[in-house]
Amino acid sequence: MTTCISRSVLIGTRRISADLAPREACGLLFGSADAITAMQGVENVAEDPERRFEIDPAALFAALRAERAGGPRIAGYWHSHPSGDPTPSATDAAMAAADGKLWLIVAGEAASLWRTSAAGALHGRFDAVPVIVDEEPGASEW
Ligand SMILES: [Zn+2]
Repeated sequence: MTTCISRSVLIGTRRISADLAPREACGLLFGSADAITAMQGVENVAEDPERRFEIDPAALFAALRAERAGGPRIAGYWHSHPSGDPTPSATDAAMAAADGKLWLIVAGEAASLWRTSAAGALHGRFDAVPVIVDEEPGASEW
């Protein structure tokens, strides 16, 4: 199944990732399984943020509360690989719940999208998701 990503999401995640390098940036994706329409940057609270990421739990809980109250649906998570390889690592797989959420990985100009599952093709946890970028008005800077 193809997932549509708004251009603004790619622009936003790349900008935050560049600002925070060589630390990994991370955050939340909003929308549905079919369309990622918005993103949020969240503090990486991992002890070794140049090699790992951990989404600030307070920000995650706040987003979950907002979702339950009728706010934006959390479609998944994003983080950056300052090394330049947008492939999920074995560490990512060990952290990922098999909950069907989307994982966007940003590595410089490259990006990749994955869906978590209990029997993924990569590291037993991730399946690649084909992406269509939704060009929208106001994104001409990219
Ligand atoms: Zn990673």
